[in-house]
Amino acid sequence: TGSGTASIIARTEALGANNYKPLPIVVAKAEGSWVEDPEDRRYLDMLSAYSALNFGHRHPRIIGALKAQADRLTLTSRAFHNDRLAEWYEKLSALTGKNCIVPMNTGAEAVETAIKAARRWAYRTKNVPPDEAEIIVCEGNFHGRTVTITSFSSEDEYKKDFGPFTPGFRIVPFGDIDALRNAITPATAAFLVEPIQGEAGIRMPPEGYLRAASALCRERNVLFVADEIQTGFGRTGVTFACEAELVEPDVYVLGKALGGGVMPVSAVAADRSVLGVFDPGSHGSTFGGNPLACAVSIEAMNVLAEEGLVERSAELGRYFAGELRKLKNDRIKEIRGRGLFVGLELTEQARPYCESLQRLGVLCKETHGTTIRVAPPLTTTKDELDFALERIRIILNGG
Ligand code: PLP
Repeated sequence: TGSGTASIIARTEALGANNYKPLPIVVAKAEGSWVEDPEDRRYLDMLSAYSALNFGHRHPRIIGALKAQADRLTLTSRAFHNDRLAEWYEKLSALTGKNCIVPMNTGAEAVETAIKAARRWAYRTKNVPPDEAEIIVCEGNFHGRTVTITSFSSEDEYKKDFGPFTPGFRIVPFGDIDALRNAITPATAAFLVEPIQGEAGIRMPPEGYLRAASALCRERNVLFVADEIQTGFGRTGVTFACEAELVEPDVYVLGKALGGGVMPVSAVAADRSVLGVFDPGSHGSTFGGNPLACAVSIEAMNVLAEEGLVERSAELGRYFAGELRKLKNDRIKEIRGRGLFVGLELTEQARPYCESLQRLGVLCKETHGTTIRVAPPLTTTKDELDFALERIRIILNGG
């Protein structure tokens, strides 16, 4: 027993499976962009739970909605209707411009839902022969951890000894429009893509790629499925990252920030011509669409609009990337990103730099070895970004 950082980490590691390698910090309290450990040390959160905390920790309006709903109704299952789901559908429909929505919980579940929908759509509207539908994905993708999703990962680390895998996927290089064109066959149901690859290290496709891919999909009757789980809800300075190229996907896959940093809430949004393939019995989730999730998610979408967080992300992101570019440090290989979704690629392993940042009171997480992912809450302030910048400057100079 014990309630200090060292003891909590030891007890956590004693019984937990070893599938994560967290920074050696225990978060015990949080508010806005700041977290505190059991010893009352404060840290600036520049990761935002992989963009699930776009609204910061415990946004008062979202917590208010959570508490009010918790006092009324939390769960009905889909065996009955609940009185919050309609309003949630309406909000998400207005935001995405889509007229049909499937509620789920985690990101991976929403990706699985999109895969099932795309396959059924291909059999029923394109007459693809049974069990032959294919989905094209990109090298370096990250869409979740289920066996099916892992099946089409290009990362050995994610796949090793987890087979046999689900067939029906084809991998093409990210950003290569000719490769996509050549991979499409009459059996292609969908092209599933992250508009900016998050886990791969904030990798941006070449300018025009998403637009060309979306046009190609339309021309060849293939669904363009955008996984905006990490990039959505203002993260990249637009509501959805596809907007930056004026692309309207056929299918949105959403999660993370959709739950307001409080509940796992995910969704697939498309038109009824696609999601209409689901009929009773074909798909579902005990918790999907639960009233508590709807309540926090509705308030999260309200906050996104009413606090101007999309514009804020664009503006602060421009400032932050601009300041990073001024650092001119030999250890910086590249600075990539859009809005408050920034990858700082180093010439060496990023982990020790994240550990140094932690000691200076800034929490970031390395991704893909050499990249530091910086994705603060969209509610962050310029002063907070300056706090982080000062410390990034120090650690890059070997401090
Ligand atoms: N898709 C993308 C683009 C993601 O970044 C993630 C999580 O990092 C997922 C899917 C999986 O979401 P979850 O961990 O909620 O299953």
